[in-house]
Amino acid sequence: MKLIFEKHKDGRRGFSYGLVDVGGAKPLPEKYRRGAALPLPCLSELDVVRHYTNLSRLNFSVDTNFYPLGSCTMKYNPKFCERVAGFEGFSQLHPLLPQLSGGGMLAQGSLEVLYETEKLLCEITAMSAFTMQPLAGAHGELTGVMLIAAYHKDKGARRKYVIVPDSSHGTNPSSAAIAGYEVKVIPTGPDGYMDLVEYKKQLNDEVAAVMLTCPDTLGIFNPRIREIADMAHKVGALLYYDGANLNAMLGKCRPGDIGFDVVHLNLHKTFATAHGGGGPGAGPVGVSQKLVEFLPISRVIRCGDGTYALDYNYRKSIGYIAPFYGNFGVILKAYAYMLCLGREGLIKAAEIAVLNANYCQAKLKSYYDLAFDKTCMHECVFSAMRQAKNGVHALDIAKYLIDKGFHPPTIYFPLIVKEALMIEPTETESKETIDAFIETMIEIARLAEDNPSLVKQAPVNMPIKRLDEVRAARKLDLCWKPQN
Ligand SMILES: *Cc1c(COP(=O)(O)O)cnc(C)c1O
Repeated sequence: MKLIFEKHKDGRRGFSYGLVDVGGAKPLPEKYRRGAALPLPCLSELDVVRHYTNLSRLNFSVDTNFYPLGSCTMKYNPKFCERVAGFEGFSQLHPLLPQLSGGGMLAQGSLEVLYETEKLLCEITAMSAFTMQPLAGAHGELTGVMLIAAYHKDKGARRKYVIVPDSSHGTNPSSAAIAGYEVKVIPTGPDGYMDLVEYKKQLNDEVAAVMLTCPDTLGIFNPRIREIADMAHKVGALLYYDGANLNAMLGKCRPGDIGFDVVHLNLHKTFATAHGGGGPGAGPVGVSQKLVEFLPISRVIRCGDGTYALDYNYRKSIGYIAPFYGNFGVILKAYAYMLCLGREGLIKAAEIAVLNANYCQAKLKSYYDLAFDKTCMHECVFSAMRQAKNGVHALDIAKYLIDKGFHPPTIYFPLIVKEALMIEPTETESKETIDAFIETMIEIARLAEDNPSLVKQAPVNMPIKRLDEVRAARKLDLCWKPQN
């Protein structure tokens, strides 16, 4: 496909300016004017419409195809949430509008949304309070670990370590490291659970926190989680719950009830904001009572007269972590989504997410090796080791799926599974769609036996075939220069 610059035709236009109808208007003074025309392509309106429409059709999206990208929860997000987020009363508000009733009431509705969303998330997770400000999951993690650090500092304790199992999401150890901690990694045992003997060995009064991804990146929920939590508390460490994939748990189990002190959620995974391509997202952080005083400012409060206000009066707060109200549109969509589904709907979403993943796992487990043969949560993790013996690697399987109109699952992650294929069908897909995917996966397993080169050639139907991935990363060239 040509770049829009290559479609340029001298003199072609898609617009014309009307005549100046302001009396006495003068042209800009000479010194402010450009010496030469801007090097923009000349195109008709139709040229531009076709160009971008055709480009958009090369995009892969949940709105067009199945997208079982493990850990990312690429589910369908209902369009009504977008509509609500687009309501002018919300989308056109200036972030610096006065909040207090004395200064005008224009921001009251938005503050109420923040306040009510916080209350709903508290109920879903059994935490005491949330900050809605973090702008992504990883940002929530960093905020959460900073809260933990503030707590220990306030108690006068010097703690050095954060414990992270090797089945956690990669952002967990990096968040702990950025917050200034040394990370201790606990291996996964042969049963697929964190090695408890090693855990006990590493746990002492120098440990600030234990960070657990729940369910972990193997798609497994650890049944001994309360024991793990109790052991951490015994040495004075706090418990961190990575709840990015809460759609596996909604209404079934609450981090606060298990004893977690901090939890972050990814609204852009579980609660109806489309993602991929870098945002925007929201990673609100919930805390137990003992951490509330450290939450970032500002906090939304409800005043005695029923109005809402931003409160900055928290002496021990860790301070600002994001401007204004966070990614307000994302929070608003989550609020609309929760109200629409209601309690029963949210529980059902979790049940179907888990059912769909177990269905994939059961249907595929005689064709691919399972990383750990257990009931899974919202995703199932296979290994393509059997196929790799015939030269068909996880990457080849991914490329073949693209040819068939499916987004590949996450591959080569989690790192602890060789040739990993991490499949997350999500709760929004129909049985027919999942069946079509399963059939293609079975077809690939057969081809790996009978005709591996067919898989290794894929994709053959795409505008771009196999890329030199190393060159694409190391010698990325996105610059177009006019040739003349
Ligand atoms: C996606 C994800 C994250 C990171 O979230 P971002 O919004 O991409 O920063 C953290 N933990 C888990 C388990 C995730 O799936």
